[in-house]
Amino acid sequence: MAIDYNLLRVTVDLGAIQNNFRLLRSLGTALIVVVKSDAYGHGLLPVARSLEACGAESFAVGTVAEAVRLRPVVRGDIFALLGPQSAHDADVTISENITSVVSRLDQLTLLQQAAQRRDGLAPVALKFDTGMARLGFNETDTGRVLETLAKCPRVTPRWLFSHLATADDPDQVDYVRDQASRFQHIHDRLFAAGLQPRCSLVNSAGMLAYPELAWDRQRPGIALYGANPFHGSALESLGTGLRPAMHVQAPVLAVHPLPKGASISYGRTYVADQDRTVAVVGAGYADNYARSLSNKGWVVIRGQRARILGRVCMQLTAVDVTHIPDVTPDDRVDLLGGSSDAAVTPEELATWWETIPYEVFCLLGMNPRKYIPALPSPTQRRPMSCPVGSLPES
Ligand SMILES: *Cc1c(COP(=O)(O)O)cnc(C)c1O
Repeated sequence: MAIDYNLLRVTVDLGAIQNNFRLLRSLGTALIVVVKSDAYGHGLLPVARSLEACGAESFAVGTVAEAVRLRPVVRGDIFALLGPQSAHDADVTISENITSVVSRLDQLTLLQQAAQRRDGLAPVALKFDTGMARLGFNETDTGRVLETLAKCPRVTPRWLFSHLATADDPDQVDYVRDQASRFQHIHDRLFAAGLQPRCSLVNSAGMLAYPELAWDRQRPGIALYGANPFHGSALESLGTGLRPAMHVQAPVLAVHPLPKGASISYGRTYVADQDRTVAVVGAGYADNYARSLSNKGWVVIRGQRARILGRVCMQLTAVDVTHIPDVTPDDRVDLLGGSSDAAVTPEELATWWETIPYEVFCLLGMNPRKYIPALPSPTQRRPMSCPVGSLPES
């Protein structure tokens, strides 16, 4: 997947992810850390290892295949949020001790059959839809769920899950309240039927804004990677202290003048309004650096912001360095993150890109990554900069 013959490089600071985990854990109940989609582009295995090293006990991925990849690396509970999609999936959830999040009756049957074949038990989280209208049983399905469970004695419903649609939006508190009360009601019906599931409702935004909805486990994802779910809203201060972990760099390949009146890149969408100097950077949409950043985004060179000029190309992007002296083809450009005061934040890049930090991380994270290992615990920490090394992926 990672195209290492391109020039863009991603560095992930595992210490930042650990910092964010500790911060969230200090606020909350127990956490299920969400590491789906390759840990939002940060790397499933290195991220999961670092989280386990600082105390994470439960992990959520999307597919059963991701869960299988994670199983040898962590001891804790692994939830497959999409549940089994085939008999083979169902078999491996049992052999690999993966908890299936189940949102359809046929998944319960698949798991019962697999558990019978393997003479085991199939732990599940029942996923109910309380307002997202994506995956999950409806409250009106509760009777049928209970009937099916009665016919599936090897399926053990240990958990009840649902997912909030508007937890990050201070203007949609009422919708969260509606979802929360539906969740409570479903819980009560299951409880009355003799089930005693542990419950989990909230994501990052939900755990920061609604501590009263913590139930037994909270499921943070994006906050672990350091993006503030409330960026630009009245609740922005709730994300204080989160540190982005992803740093994206590419080299300068050429520096040249662009005289007043000259255009640059495909379609001539930028024409110099004065004599300018441009640097051509070795990153483009083939690296998932979006073409929608054309004439909109900014990068950082030598600690200063430089604006994108003209269209982002497949492997090249031109930026304005008129105000930055001595830029040369040796220079590295920060497309996201880094240590400079001018560093581009995930929220800024997402705004220019017309998306959200989640997508920025998932897409840029598909490039080759290296890791800054987490430092030892604070008592052992020495005042030195930490080495940048490549960790093996497995
Ligand atoms: C992705 C996901 C999360 C994490 O959401 P964030 O907004 O990233 O915190 C939690 N629960 C479920 C079911 C998810 O799919």
